[in-house]
Amino acid sequence: MKPTKPSEQIFFGHPVSPGIGIGPIDEAAEPELVISHKKIAAADAPAERARLEEALIRSRHQLAKLKARLAGLPEQSQAEIAPLIDAYLHMLGTSRLMRGIRARIGDNLISAESAVQDEAEAQANAILALTGSDRAGRLRRAEEVREISRRILRNLTHQPFRSFAALAPGSILAATDLRPADAALIQPANFAGIITAEGGADGHTAVMLRALGLPAVLGATGVLDAAQPGTLAIIDGDAGTITLNPSRASLEAASAKLRDMSRSRRSLARLQHLPAETRDHVAIDLQANLELPFELPMIAQSGAHGIGLLRSEFIFMNRESLPDEDTQTQIYQNIVAAMDGDPVTIRVLDWGSDKDVEALSDYLPEAAEPNPALGLRGIRLLLRHPSLLETQLAAILRAGAAGPVRIMLPMVSLTAEIIAVRDILDAVYRRLKRRGVRMAAKKPPLGIMIETPAAALGCAQLARHAQFFALGTNDLTMYTMAADRSLPVGSKLYDPLEPAILRLIHITAEAAQAARIPVSLCGELASREQATPLLLGLGIRQLSMHGNAIPRVKQAVRAATLSQCHAIATAALDAADADAVREIIRARTFSDPSETT
Ligand code: PEP
Ligand code: MG
Repeated sequence: MKPTKPSEQIFFGHPVSPGIGIGPIDEAAEPELVISHKKIAAADAPAERARLEEALIRSRHQLAKLKARLAGLPEQSQAEIAPLIDAYLHMLGTSRLMRGIRARIGDNLISAESAVQDEAEAQANAILALTGSDRAGRLRRAEEVREISRRILRNLTHQPFRSFAALAPGSILAATDLRPADAALIQPANFAGIITAEGGADGHTAVMLRALGLPAVLGATGVLDAAQPGTLAIIDGDAGTITLNPSRASLEAASAKLRDMSRSRRSLARLQHLPAETRDHVAIDLQANLELPFELPMIAQSGAHGIGLLRSEFIFMNRESLPDEDTQTQIYQNIVAAMDGDPVTIRVLDWGSDKDVEALSDYLPEAAEPNPALGLRGIRLLLRHPSLLETQLAAILRAGAAGPVRIMLPMVSLTAEIIAVRDILDAVYRRLKRRGVRMAAKKPPLGIMIETPAAALGCAQLARHAQFFALGTNDLTMYTMAADRSLPVGSKLYDPLEPAILRLIHITAEAAQAARIPVSLCGELASREQATPLLLGLGIRQLSMHGNAIPRVKQAVRAATLSQCHAIATAALDAADADAVREIIRARTFSDPSETT
């Protein structure tokens, strides 16, 4: 007798990441963590503490690696996940949790793993016992404490983490639940989709999966009980369905959808070698923002003509001492060489405000500032400690021997700031020259971010001293609207499409044009392809963005004509608010059908 084919079964979950995936189910189970509670002799306490410190170092390295992987994701997703990883890193630093764990080893004479387990549980329970309305926040914080303790425990006891490497390529990754740190480890190219039996639509994991670009359905109760390893499934990340043992008709429909999706992806990929120019042949310079060196290969494939913003903060992060001139030179040099003659705009350290960097703690103001975002930040901090700036400038000048570099200053609000940096740069250049050090043949251009209202409104005067401008609309929006940039996307106040911001962009573009200096826009707004015609109409001809966004923005450039862009910009400058601007864009943008098929 022929075995009967199992019949089709459909499960419903949260549709967290769109797209269709077809493949066999493969489950990534989490190995159980086994910890035994152990007493120790007083004489063994130092050795236990040393084991703990080793595990902490390993945990920090792992999280730093995870954070580096985030850089390949769209900025919005990075913005959601990076704070979580920072929270973990903070807990591994000088936190109450670490103090409690260290104290327990000596006070209670217990092993490091017992101390981690006891202290984490005590703190998680104390958080849960708090009263107040933010129950979801308490649950999240308690889970963060437990999550970081699980990481330390696995590192202490050398028990394996969940691994995705052994799963069958092309399969649908299935798990009871996934944590954000797991999601950051998934290689999207290896899987057709992701399903979980637990988990919601709004958590960090969901954001991560969306960012990976893999179809995903979370919280599909019962699906793991019904599926065996190898069961064929279709996942529909738009509808939130998982079809196990699909019928022939279901498979055909899903395959047709899949073909449509890959056709539109291919049309974006084809754009890589086409010029970024409008229909009326105005060339637009599209560059990439780089936050971590790990992004370089992706940038090279994106069709970017250079790096318009290298955020040098990563060089100073996750280390206990400052990187010296040679270390910095090597890092910049590698990036400049990889860009193969395309310019690299290196922004000097933009630190201060709420960002906490261990190696720089001696340089931050002693007393906590009442308003850190309005205090010592960016160029203000560097001018307070010129030795930091001198080292970085020397390294950039030396990296200039490997290809074209530009130097950019963050958070400028006064003409005096750029004049002071120019003096320092000249002195560093003379010193290196006297010593016969190899460096850029010509002094690199020195430019500034326009990201404070003072800089935007004073741009005509600043243009007499700066050799280029880069509009940082992330901060410009925050400082102009007096609204924190960490407000959620869609916030009424924090919206770079507010006409007030558009006017500042326009003023800056006009001042740059009058002074004949280049101006680019490198805030998050540059990667929104819907805004591209508007920005061109405001006078911007150079955009720097996350490498992932370049094909979409190029497509928008190639569909636009300058007269259409000017009409959009003129209407938007006179609009009442950001919603009205969006409506103007929507009504007046047309796309070139030949580009999208
Ligand atoms: C900006 O403020 O727009 C910008 C590009 O700089 P950052 O996001 O690094 O502050
Ligand atoms: Mg900024």
